[in-house]
Amino acid sequence: MSEYVENVRCLIIGSGPAGYTAAIYAARADLRPVIYQGMQPGGQLTITTEVENFPGYPKGITGPGMMEEFKQQAERFGTQVRFGVVTSVDLSARPFTVMADDGKTLKAESLIIATGASAKWMGLESERKFMGMGVSGCATCDGFFYRGQEVAIVGGGDTAAEEATYLAKLCKKVYMIHRRNELRASKAMQHKVFNTPNIEMVWDSVPGEVLGDDSGVNGVRIRNVKTGEIRDIQVSGFFVAIGHKPNTEIFEGQLELDEMKYIITIPGSTKTSVDGVFAAGDVQDHHYRQAVTAAGTGCMAAIEAERFLTL
Ligand code: NAP
Repeated sequence: MSEYVENVRCLIIGSGPAGYTAAIYAARADLRPVIYQGMQPGGQLTITTEVENFPGYPKGITGPGMMEEFKQQAERFGTQVRFGVVTSVDLSARPFTVMADDGKTLKAESLIIATGASAKWMGLESERKFMGMGVSGCATCDGFFYRGQEVAIVGGGDTAAEEATYLAKLCKKVYMIHRRNELRASKAMQHKVFNTPNIEMVWDSVPGEVLGDDSGVNGVRIRNVKTGEIRDIQVSGFFVAIGHKPNTEIFEGQLELDEMKYIITIPGSTKTSVDGVFAAGDVQDHHYRQAVTAAGTGCMAAIEAERFLTL
């Protein structure tokens, strides 16, 4: 057993912008970080086609291309990047005990959690097929590509309402598809939606299929859940905004989480309810959810881990 135990000064879980930025800073501070990439190496950006709003890329870059550059930059300073998933943690005593699916047991003096959040999807086969070819989970990231076009968005919460109004500024028309006949979104957001002339509400409806061909999405087949009526609308973009799920299952009962299961951090820091454990990126942020904000908190987490270790 003991031969498999590895001591690590700074262990980072998750390889999106938060995890890799934490790694760059931790490696440069001589913490010799080890990063477990997790289920989706590179994180959510690897399912985005083009990133145009990350500073420093004036011509834009593909999501996977950008994450490869983050990885190379982290490795350049000595980060050990491992393909693997952390399966359990014990945060009750320091060093923290962490088990990974590569069979390793690690003892970590500090831990940076950057496991992100996963967008919820409708679960349609056609949705998967056109992912990045007209199907998107982020209007702020991808809306720009649909300027002057007609798009659809599914969901009735604050995110869908916010993204629908964002898209309406860029697009000719936005169909907002909701499974009930009233929105869950706050009254203020509802007001915005109802007062935006180019948003058309499609009530009591769910998308049954995303339609398209080799060049991408060209429509959505919608079913009215009350009447059973089926109709096709022509759109070139299909946005899903039915909520996100933070990837915090393995921390439940060990760290303070909010009611939506996001990790609670001390305001103005990445400190969690356990000393020596820091959280960065979307796993502790359901508000901004941007690569650049995730990277910023990754930097904070590494600086805080270094201070913690040298105290
Ligand atoms: P949410 O509040 O959980 O709303 C999800 C929406 O998607 C609901 O309207 C829900 O329908 C619908 N939905 C869920 N599963 C579905 C499915 N399988 N098929 C079709 N529709 C489905 O999620 P959110 O909008 O992402 O917001 C999350 C939290 O962040 C909320 O507390 C929200 O207030 C907050 N937030 C705040 C702001 C802001 O203050 N500016 C912005 C964004 C988010 P039902 O309504 O029928 O359940």
